[in-house]
Amino acid sequence: MNPVALVTGASRGIGRGIALELAKLGHDVVVNYAGNVAAAQQTAADCVATAQASRKSIRAEVCQADISNGADRKKLIEFTRDSFGRLDLLVNNAGVAPDVRADILEASEESFDRLISINVKGPYFLTQLAAKWMIEQVGARTCQPKIITVTSISAYTASTNRGDYCVSKAALSMLTPLFAARLAEHGINVYEIRPGVITTDMTGAVKEKYDKLIAEGLTPIKRWGTPEDIGKAVAAIASDALPFSTGEVINVDGGFHLRRL
Ligand code: NAP
Repeated sequence: MNPVALVTGASRGIGRGIALELAKLGHDVVVNYAGNVAAAQQTAADCVATAQASRKSIRAEVCQADISNGADRKKLIEFTRDSFGRLDLLVNNAGVAPDVRADILEASEESFDRLISINVKGPYFLTQLAAKWMIEQVGARTCQPKIITVTSISAYTASTNRGDYCVSKAALSMLTPLFAARLAEHGINVYEIRPGVITTDMTGAVKEKYDKLIAEGLTPIKRWGTPEDIGKAVAAIASDALPFSTGEVINVDGGFHLRRL
């Protein structure tokens, strides 16, 4: 039986890159999405094809669920249970940027609430649901479930034109130490992956700005990150490469976090 991964926001971008790398490893995948069913189905089909190319046979199923909504979170876990009967890996990837980049002196409360709801409340309570099921599974048989949350360099970098996003990612960063401390006794390791600047739809609108910054040395590794870069980090954790580490932050940012002089 294949291990099973649930990846939120896997229809596009980083989540899609994570789903593909997990499929390559031989994981069955639940491809969650919010509204873009065609993209989710494409990711699922590509997961199966990618696995086949690596001589693996996997299943990938799509499930619509808005992670900011409690009933949808429950539906997503139930879907995973009904479709696969197990959960080895939860990847909290889905997240949104503000619709408008607005100066913190002007930015709206509405945008703040939206980002906190999707970027923080969603993964926090989805993790709670998944963790309870994982604990049952650990008790019932030998499996070592894991939880990974995708945050951002914005967890510690001040961008004054999207303060709501920075605050949401800083808050989300606390999820990993909390659940790592609580779940260690059950053998469930919990990790944060902190991406830098990655080529996806989310960064499409600021491509020229970041092209210039990267060329000028924003990151020691002078290139954009790719969804595959994040997928490979997730795959390393999924293949048990870090068994004695929990609560760990893994920077996948081309060295953005390094202080330099
Ligand atoms: P993206 O290209 O905009 O894709 C967002 C994904 O999340 C899509 O699959 C979308 O589904 C899904 N989604 C959005 N709202 C959702 C909701 N309420 N419930 C469930 N799914 C939802 O974004 P991305 O760049 O891949 O970002 C993925 C994660 O990485 C986010 O948490 C983001 O904050 C983080 N991150 C990104 C970067 C970067 O440079 N791109 C850097 C650091 C961190 P639909 O297709 O159905 O809309």
